[in-house]
Amino acid sequence: MKIPFLSFNETNKAVKQEILEAFESFFDKAWYILGDSVKQFEKEYADYNNVSNCIGVSNGLDALHLSLKALNIGAGDEVIVPSNTYIATLLAVSYVGANPVLVEPDISTYNIDPANIQKAITGRTKAIMPVHLYGQCCEMKEIMALAEKNNLFVIEDNAQSQGSAYGGKLTGTWGHINGTSFYPGKNLGALGDAGAITTNDKNLAHKIAVLRNYGSEKKYYNEVVGFNMRLDEIQAAFLSVKLKYLPEWTKQRQQIATWYNEALKNIFQIVLPSIAKEATHVYHLYVIRSERRDELQKYLQEHGIGTLIHYPVPPHLQKAYNHLGFKSGDFPIAEKIADTCLSLPIWPGMQNEDVNYVAEKIRKFYDR
Ligand SMILES: *Cc1c(COP(=O)(O)O)cnc(C)c1O
Repeated sequence: MKIPFLSFNETNKAVKQEILEAFESFFDKAWYILGDSVKQFEKEYADYNNVSNCIGVSNGLDALHLSLKALNIGAGDEVIVPSNTYIATLLAVSYVGANPVLVEPDISTYNIDPANIQKAITGRTKAIMPVHLYGQCCEMKEIMALAEKNNLFVIEDNAQSQGSAYGGKLTGTWGHINGTSFYPGKNLGALGDAGAITTNDKNLAHKIAVLRNYGSEKKYYNEVVGFNMRLDEIQAAFLSVKLKYLPEWTKQRQQIATWYNEALKNIFQIVLPSIAKEATHVYHLYVIRSERRDELQKYLQEHGIGTLIHYPVPPHLQKAYNHLGFKSGDFPIAEKIADTCLSLPIWPGMQNEDVNYVAEKIRKFYDR
């Protein structure tokens, strides 16, 4: 038996006919940049999230970069980010010339711990960037309260958690401005690079729409130093097709997670995902932790099971961030997660027997 870490077979099969029709219609229209398909997807994605504005952009990293730019965050400013995030969160902060300030996550949810945020706030802090990691929404009520008290902006990195919520309110609707990614492997994936920004602030939405298109509202008249960070028409057309399936695909991910939880519950050597009281989880990733992670990963590989590590090196120990001057031991929770986490296969269409096969091999590994 072979269980890949990720398979597009089922989701691609479900949308194939509609994707081909969308392509044909796009091709016949012969309008490639910022046309009706982008407008339509922006409206649909805003409606899906119950947020008043969505601006399609080139990818998730650009979404975060533009968000910081629109808030005028720049040189000398500090932005709070989780110490166990994907590197993109930090890169966006670096691009605008601001300094990322790392804050440790909660070891049970892997999301930034609100209790640690207050201690990291200084006179230079401008914003908090919570990352809804692996598919679980951060403790947003607590984070928004801290932001309000300290007069800070909140920018959600919602690349991994489209459709998850805290206290019933969806990700991408809490922060002043929020970025998401439609990288193919994300819960809502394009057929290439794509991303979006969501916000309830009309002025910020307008600013973003101008910034992503050369800082120009009227063609060849440039108001600000902008970027080319547009969402392609073709990707928008594909995303409109796939968005209709997202609720069903999310349900399937949650079902698979329930199967894993059940099948793995008696293996005391591993730690299963844990969800904060008011949060929901859309299982972009199903992440377990094991003290013998590397051996376990190798054993599963030998038995045809693909796994990945999200992420093997925390940002403060990456070469790219040498200049921050951190060393091993500075962020012990992020380091512990990096050393022990293992993402098991999960994709819409995965069957209970696939899950049971993975669970059986994990059990065998520990019983040997
Ligand atoms: C994928 C991802 C991004 C970046 O998205 P791209 O579309 O690949 O640029 C940012 N943050 C997190 C947490 C991600 O998982």
